[in-house]
Amino acid sequence: RNSLVWFRRDLRVDDHAALHHALLSSRHVFGVFVFDTDILAGLPPDDRRVQFLLDSVRELDARLRSLGGYLIVRHGRAAQVIPALAAELDAESVFANRDYEPQALARDRAVLETLRAAGRSLQTFKDQVIFERDEVLTLAGGPYSVFTPYKNAWLKRLAREPEALRPFETAPHAAALAPAPADHALPSLAALGFVPNAAPIARPGMSGAEHLLAQFEERLARYDHDRDYPALDATSRLSVHLRFGTLSVRRLVAMLQARIADGSGGAGAPVWLAELVWREFYMMILARHPRVVTQSFKQAFDAVAWDDGPDADALLAAWCAGRTGYPLVDAAMLQLERTGFMHNRLRMVTASFLTKDLGIDWRRGERWFALKLNDYELASNNGGWQWAASTGCDAQPWFRIFNPVTQSKRFDPDGDFIRQYLPQLARLSGAAIHAPWLARPGALAQAGVVLGMDYPRPIVDHDAAREKTLARFKAIRAA
Ligand code: FAD
Repeated sequence: RNSLVWFRRDLRVDDHAALHHALLSSRHVFGVFVFDTDILAGLPPDDRRVQFLLDSVRELDARLRSLGGYLIVRHGRAAQVIPALAAELDAESVFANRDYEPQALARDRAVLETLRAAGRSLQTFKDQVIFERDEVLTLAGGPYSVFTPYKNAWLKRLAREPEALRPFETAPHAAALAPAPADHALPSLAALGFVPNAAPIARPGMSGAEHLLAQFEERLARYDHDRDYPALDATSRLSVHLRFGTLSVRRLVAMLQARIADGSGGAGAPVWLAELVWREFYMMILARHPRVVTQSFKQAFDAVAWDDGPDADALLAAWCAGRTGYPLVDAAMLQLERTGFMHNRLRMVTASFLTKDLGIDWRRGERWFALKLNDYELASNNGGWQWAASTGCDAQPWFRIFNPVTQSKRFDPDGDFIRQYLPQLARLSGAAIHAPWLARPGALAQAGVVLGMDYPRPIVDHDAAREKTLARFKAIRAA
């Protein structure tokens, strides 16, 4: 019997649950990736992620071919393409790894119905996470809404269930892969309607993930300390690879366990493990409470009166363009624009700035990040934004408001990160660069900076904005 493995956000061959199960249960296994027009519509023509996807798909095809198989690549609506292809190949079953985003779940339900009507099946597997939405529960059997107890329960479950990390082997069973036809070819970027980006995402595919992981393993033991400084290359940069599944999360957690056990992971390894647990926490929150896509996790906060109208639109535009007059915020927004990446500390700072300093609805910032982030992931982005806006599931009270200048002094003390993206401020001293409007006029002149010309004056006064935000949130509490 034939089967079809539908690759989605799991663009790898090794340790792949759906591929493993298909190989074990079928005579001929085909693989497919669909460039889904429902998802691609509305993206800018030079979107970096499409290029990353195509490059990763090419590598996946090459790896499958080296094992005797190949990857079919289609361009269209997955909900139609998949059932049609299953019929064409006479595949009894379609195998896929589970995706927990509401739109993906709706798509998979539609595919399942069409397949069923034709006497075929859709089999889905856990692969993207160590533990799914219902696998880590409170004693009362409900979902957690605070991270730390969730993490503790997650770690306890892993200790009880070490087989959760067992890799799903594929290569030893590769004989079942169906060989490529003579005319096998993959589409070009142009055929998908896209053009190359001038600054593409570095190193796509499984090989890109391996490369980053090998480098990060050297830095892992210092992660707990170094991760908060955007000028240091201290984090893994693996988020885009976890997003598209070019490496397996089981493999990462197994590596961490080994390095925690032999002591070589230092203080960094458990902290990095907690980041991977955050990823699953937000996926669980999204799967359990799909309303968070458009609404506040803490429902009372849906009544927050965010600023809107032309003034708010102008402030939003300045934030997007990196022209707020707060150097750390602006450097971060330029990093996002130019590279598609933003350091985690800076995601917190810029999201807090938009919601608490500019008084703008978190959903508008979330949308901007969704458009620009290479690693855009609905669950983490939504979770991160709601955390920053104090509408989400965290234990921090809403009246704790980041001061963008204090954050800058703490996490970019010498201004090294700021200088990378704002060369016009490069000659300001480490002390003056965090708040140029407070610098002595002589210092500005000496550094060749004319405020309002070379670099904007601050578009908002932090102390006044802070008072407005406190009032905005107090009104909710009073109500
Ligand atoms: P590392 O520090 O090396 O962390 C390892 C991995 O753990 C990451 O690759 C990621 O998969 C996961 N991780 C780390 N921190 C978090 C976190 N706070 N929440 C969830 N997962 C985490 N992450 C995304 O993957 N996609 C997003 O769209 C996204 N949007 C965000 C928006 C805001 C406002 C905030 C505050 C955070 C957001 N994050 C998002 C989380 C985090 O900023 C990124 O995962 C991280 O910066 C990616 O860099 P890295 O791979 O070097 O991370």
